[in-house]
Amino acid sequence: MQVRNDWSREEIQALYDQPFLDLVFKAQQVHREHFDANTIQVSTLLSIKTGKCPEDCKYCSQSAHYDSKLEAEKRIAVEKVISEAKEALASGSSRFCMGAAWRNPHERDMPYVIEMVKEVKALGLETCMTLGMLNQSQAERLKEAGLDYYNHNLDTSREYYSHIISTRTFDDRLDTLDFVRKAGMKVCSGGIVGLGENRNDRIGLLQELATLPAHPESVPINMLVPIEGTPLADVEKLDVTEWIRTIAVARIIMPTSYIRLSAGREALSDSDQALAFMAGANSLFSGEKLLTTPNAGEGKDKQLFNKLGLKAEKAKPTVAELSVDAMAS
Ligand code: SF4
Repeated sequence: MQVRNDWSREEIQALYDQPFLDLVFKAQQVHREHFDANTIQVSTLLSIKTGKCPEDCKYCSQSAHYDSKLEAEKRIAVEKVISEAKEALASGSSRFCMGAAWRNPHERDMPYVIEMVKEVKALGLETCMTLGMLNQSQAERLKEAGLDYYNHNLDTSREYYSHIISTRTFDDRLDTLDFVRKAGMKVCSGGIVGLGENRNDRIGLLQELATLPAHPESVPINMLVPIEGTPLADVEKLDVTEWIRTIAVARIIMPTSYIRLSAGREALSDSDQALAFMAGANSLFSGEKLLTTPNAGEGKDKQLFNKLGLKAEKAKPTVAELSVDAMAS
C-alpha cells in the first residue's frame, strides 16, 4: 500500500464505517506489508517536571487550572533521569521519553534538557521529549544534542479543539511540529479519543495527521483516563471498539508509522489489547505510570507478550557495541 498524504474526510469516513471485522482485517493486512506483526516497540516515559502547568487542557491532571490533587514536583536531577533510563534499557525499552509540564521550555531550561538528551542517547536508547511548544532554535539545539523524537499531540480535531484547550491554538501545535521537522527530528504526534468528541472529530484528527507533509513516525492514540477535579472527570466513556477502530484507521492511512496504544491501556483486558495489536498497534509504553496516569506494569506486559508470542523491538546498539562487533567480524 502506497504512503499517501492526500486522504479526504470521505475516504477516512468510509474506512471507519466498515463492519468492524472487515476494518481490523484490512488494517492487519496493511500492517504486515510494513512491519513484523509480532514485534512491538516499547518505550518508557518519565516525568521530569510534574504539575503546575499553565495550560488548561481539560483532561489533564497537571494543569494548574484544576484541582486534581496531584502533587507537583520541580525538575528532577539529571542523575535520577539517567538511572531511570538505565532501568528502562535493562527491562527491554528501546526508547526513553522525557516529559515536562511546561507551556514551552524557557531558555534557562535548555542546558538541563540538552545534558539529559546527550546522556540518555549515550546509553544506546532512542530519545524522545515532550516539553510543550518549541521555537525553531530550540528544536535545532535539541536535534544537535541527539534528540531523535519530539512528541507534540494534536489532541483532537480542529473543530473540537476549542472545547478542550484555550491557552494555545491548533495552529500553534502545527507550528511546533513544523519546527521539529525542519530541525530534522522525527515526529511523535497523535491524539486522545473519548474527550466527548464525535466520530467526525476522530476522522478530522486522523485526517490532520495523515495529510501533514510527512506522516508522524509515531502516532499515539490515547483513550481518555478521566481524572477527578478536571472538567472531563465525568465525560461519557467511549466504547473500546471505537478506540480500536481509530487505531485500525490510523494504521491504514499511515501505514509506515508506529501506532502507539497509549494512555487508557491499563483499563483494557488482554483480549482487547490483542485486538488492538490485530488492528495495527505496534508500540506501547511500559511501566507503572504514564507521566501521572496509571499504566499496565512491566510484569503484566511480560505476561501478555508471552501469552501472545510477541517480542519487544531491540534497542539500537551503542557506538561502543558497534565497534566491538566491527572488530569481531
Ligand atoms: S497536557 Fe501538557 S500542556 Fe496540557 S496541561 Fe497537561 S502538561 Fe500542560
